[in-house]
Amino acid sequence: MELLSGKIASKAMKEILKEKIEKAINIYDKSPCLAVILIGNNPSSLSYIKGKEKACVFVGIEYKLFHLDEQVEQKEVEDLIQTLNQDHQIDGMILQLPIPKNLDENKLIDLISRDKDADGFHVVNQGYLYQKKKTIYPATPKGIMELLDYYKVRVEGLNATIIGRSNIVGFPVARMLMDRGATITVCHSKTKNLKEHTLNADLIVSATGRPKLVTKDMVKLGAIVIDVGINKVDGHLVGDVDFENVSKVASMITPVPGGVGPMTIYGLLENTYELYLAHQIK
Ligand code: NAD
Repeated sequence: MELLSGKIASKAMKEILKEKIEKAINIYDKSPCLAVILIGNNPSSLSYIKGKEKACVFVGIEYKLFHLDEQVEQKEVEDLIQTLNQDHQIDGMILQLPIPKNLDENKLIDLISRDKDADGFHVVNQGYLYQKKKTIYPATPKGIMELLDYYKVRVEGLNATIIGRSNIVGFPVARMLMDRGATITVCHSKTKNLKEHTLNADLIVSATGRPKLVTKDMVKLGAIVIDVGINKVDGHLVGDVDFENVSKVASMITPVPGGVGPMTIYGLLENTYELYLAHQIK
């Protein structure tokens, strides 16, 4: 079994990106800049944004945090997004999810202008992705593709089963794997007999947020397993996959933590850099 380490892959990729950014700063006399909007004090979000800040600092992306109170009104967040949309210093912007339930998440995400959409959630960016055109891709699916590339995993011709159909992970992962020549099955909470679909898979991507959803008996010998899930169980971070047992049958598997998580951060860095370059060329 080979471990698909996002920690190792992203470290190598960040070194290369850091060099590119150094060169770009010399040419354009401006650093790339990412704005992060955080609402409230969700402990997981605080930990994620710390990781994002550290990675930004490492590669030379300026990081600006806008930390709003849990009780903030919708209008105030909308105004902030509009202000950041107009701010030429800012190249990319993300709204750290989840946000308090009383706020309209979709409306806020839709307000982030396409040319600052570092998370790749904008409806036009998603449209480009579904038409197989170059665009800013959602950070997690993009990071997963780069992880597969780093470990030289060829997906062409493989049967890939994706568990989860969200707009930010499952669905775009399915699209990207299909574009790479895999044969796709997308499973979700209404799927009957999940095991039947996973046992047929050469590649499984699980993105559900259900600990131990994928067990050893559901995985074909030699399959590749990508675990996107992040769950806290007894104070520990675990994925969707029963890693201890599934790793005995998988040929390649991502750990949690240290698998898809660091690759998502890397995807965000690369998106910010691409948006920055586009702003310099305009
Ligand atoms: P989501 O809640 O939007 O979607 C979950 C999907 O899982 C849904 O499509 C649902 O139908 C499916 N699902 C739920 N229970 C299921 C079951 N029992 N069987 C089959 N399908 C089931 O979540 P999301 O935003 O797509 O995130 C999914 C997971 O990935 C979460 O744990 C999230 O924290 C994690 N995540 C990790 C990263 C990372 O960087 N590692 C990035 C984004 C999301």
